[in-house]
Amino acid sequence: MVGVSFINPLSMEGRERVRQLGSLDSLIQDNPELIELVTRSKSQDISEDQDIPRNYLEMALKRLEWYVKKRNDRDFNYRKFAFLFQEDIEKYDIISFYLLSQAIGVRFGPNSRESRLMVESQGSLIQNRLEELNSRERTEIVLKALQELLSQETVKWTFFENLLSSRRIQLSDLVLDQGEVIMDREDFRNRFGSRLQHRDPDKMYQLLIGQELQELILIRMVMQQTENYMAEVHEKARLMVEPNPLLLELADKVTEILIQPTTSYGGSGGGGGYSYTGPLNREAFPPCVKNALEGIKSGGRNDAIVLFITPFVSYARLCPDIFKQNVTVQVSDKDPELQVVHNEVLPLIYEAAERCVPPLFEDQPQEKININAKLGFGMHSNLKLENEGETKWYTPMSCEKIKLHLPHLCRPDEDCKKIGNPLSYYNRKNWILSKERTESEDNVGKEGYNEEKEKEDQANGWIEVKKDDA
Ligand code: SF4
Repeated sequence: MVGVSFINPLSMEGRERVRQLGSLDSLIQDNPELIELVTRSKSQDISEDQDIPRNYLEMALKRLEWYVKKRNDRDFNYRKFAFLFQEDIEKYDIISFYLLSQAIGVRFGPNSRESRLMVESQGSLIQNRLEELNSRERTEIVLKALQELLSQETVKWTFFENLLSSRRIQLSDLVLDQGEVIMDREDFRNRFGSRLQHRDPDKMYQLLIGQELQELILIRMVMQQTENYMAEVHEKARLMVEPNPLLLELADKVTEILIQPTTSYGGSGGGGGYSYTGPLNREAFPPCVKNALEGIKSGGRNDAIVLFITPFVSYARLCPDIFKQNVTVQVSDKDPELQVVHNEVLPLIYEAAERCVPPLFEDQPQEKININAKLGFGMHSNLKLENEGETKWYTPMSCEKIKLHLPHLCRPDEDCKKIGNPLSYYNRKNWILSKERTESEDNVGKEGYNEEKEKEDQANGWIEVKKDDA
């Protein structure tokens, strides 16, 4: 049977494995056993050498690469990562997990997008690994892993305080009786059996709790523990421990994996995969944004500025490829000192608010707080890093929603036919404009060359020779 540490590397079994690890040098040395395990994994594609991890470090990176590619790559090939789901890889997988968590914890800290990627990938890996098991194995391993995590007879809902506050689970996901969380079938029957009239308690258990809720709790708890572990590592590194250079090297490679998809020019012909990063280019704004920036004179003023312009301007400036990204991002991931936000993003939003009739902040100054909240900085009058994460950074509304809620802003042009979100319009239009610029620069370059060259040729009397050659 599959080991608990294959599902939860932070289990006691997993920690014990790490304690048994010998010298750190072995982590970067080619490991014949690992190579052998990967190459003979069921369904594994071994056509390219680069798909086969040769040591622990490469194995760690494959763990993340799997998740990034699964989410972003339209041509994602599961068979290149089949080894990640073979339980005999467990030993290598656990060490890789710790390596990655430590590298990310040390270099990027717990609130980074690298750490969110790690947490999300761990959750997704567990889910996929469970799906590979037969139903008996799946039930058994979930129970075993949960027993260790819950480690008490009765669990009060307050036990899930962290999960609830990080919104990894909702209170409504849980079945409660007098403040205690019910997960066990027998317990459910004892507590609710007599209260359920004309209903089969087993069927009700299956409907309300069952395997699904247990798996959800297990996965979310491991995700939370992963996040906590990275926070611990970060704190230790900050206070005293000099990080191992190996971890820093691994952290650099993690960044490479993360930026890979965002720099690709995928999409053919339409600029669908293109994203432009840099100062805002008003020329590339879609009609709805241009209309809103002129100021709202009729209805929907507040929503247009707070819910539409704020997310659009902030993402267009800081993270135009958000819909291709593999993890949720925060403003500070892109603008660590918040300089761009203060100097470029907010001024443009405020300018649009000022142009409204009546000017937005004149009669509703509290909308500044709502703008901060939509940027992810909670309900505060000043936008400060320490409040980041209290709310979510809202992503831009789709065209469909704009047409529904702010129909007067939508005046589609030709380019609107190819997109479903104003941000995609912005990326596409930037791509078109940059292509046009390059083409015209090429022409100017050629003309410039010809003119110069011709003058030079005439002066040297070479013009006849050139014509003959042609
Ligand atoms: S179709 Fe979309 S991008 Fe174009 S104007 Fe309407 S809402 Fe804006």
